[in-house]
Amino acid sequence: MNLFIKGSTKVYGILGWPVEHSFSPVLHNSAFQQTGLDCVYVPFPVKPADLARTMDGIRSMGISGVSVTIPHKSKVIDYLDEITPEAKLIGAVNTIVSKDGRLKGYNTDAPGFLSSLESEAAVSPADKKVLILGAGGAARAVAVQMALAGASEILITSKTFEKVESIVNLINHSVRQCARSFIWSETEFRKILPETDILINTTPVGMHPRVDEMPKFPLRYLPASALVCDLIYNPRETLLLKKSREQGCAAMNGMGMLLYQGAIAFELWTGVKPPIEVMKTALETVLTK
Ligand code: NAP
Repeated sequence: MNLFIKGSTKVYGILGWPVEHSFSPVLHNSAFQQTGLDCVYVPFPVKPADLARTMDGIRSMGISGVSVTIPHKSKVIDYLDEITPEAKLIGAVNTIVSKDGRLKGYNTDAPGFLSSLESEAAVSPADKKVLILGAGGAARAVAVQMALAGASEILITSKTFEKVESIVNLINHSVRQCARSFIWSETEFRKILPETDILINTTPVGMHPRVDEMPKFPLRYLPASALVCDLIYNPRETLLLKKSREQGCAAMNGMGMLLYQGAIAFELWTGVKPPIEVMKTALETVLTK
């Protein structure tokens, strides 16, 4: 961390509620320290009712950029001057660049997931059949990104079917006709799993402290050639990933997504290549505590 804050130090931070469990301060301060940039990154606990005033504050206090987390990722769009087409499509912003009083919103979660897939699992979604469990904010970002990256088919299922349909319609109408919904049932999984190349869990099932749970579906029908991704990073090996490895599948947790969404934000803010290895080590250190 930059302990020598000066009048010229650029301030970055994260808006969320709650925010005290965020790993982003560690991620970004390790990168600022490594690169020697005169910058600091701090947590901003912002209640939903205070978001509008906070956005004015970002402009008026000259804050250089912020990350945005739950529950503000969608609502914050109302207060921006500009938004990228990808973030608009996904309907969520997790990174804001502030320049000359103007705020521009980006979504780096989606390309962060793609980078982790390519860098950590050496897998490209192009021409792959992708199955997504869950239909919340993360599923929306990941599904849109998989469609943009050329997946041949995207199959989505979750508890609430309307949410699934909303993502399927978004992809088919605004990206490419490649998404399909299916009902969460043994019969459906039995038909779909044997053909699946990449399975992505975007539900929170298995997250700390309920580490002995996993999404209830017949994993045994998934072939050993498939890659299983869990967006959860605490614990680093969820029960789903453990069981997947046991039946011969490659497995990837959500740490890479967290790392790369931060790395992409770092570069947007500073124009400097992110020190990936340093950021990864910093994350690993806090995640093992
Ligand atoms: P969210 O908006 O609450 O969505 C969760 C989705 O999972 C909802 O569609 C929910 O369905 C579904 N779900 C929950 N329990 C289920 C169950 N037992 N069976 C089937 N579906 C179930 O949350 P989110 O923001 O998308 O985040 C989801 C997960 O991704 C969390 O674990 C989060 O930590 C992780 N994440 C990781 C990263 C990263 O950088 N690695 C980034 C973002 C999110 P209903 O709506 O019907 O309840």
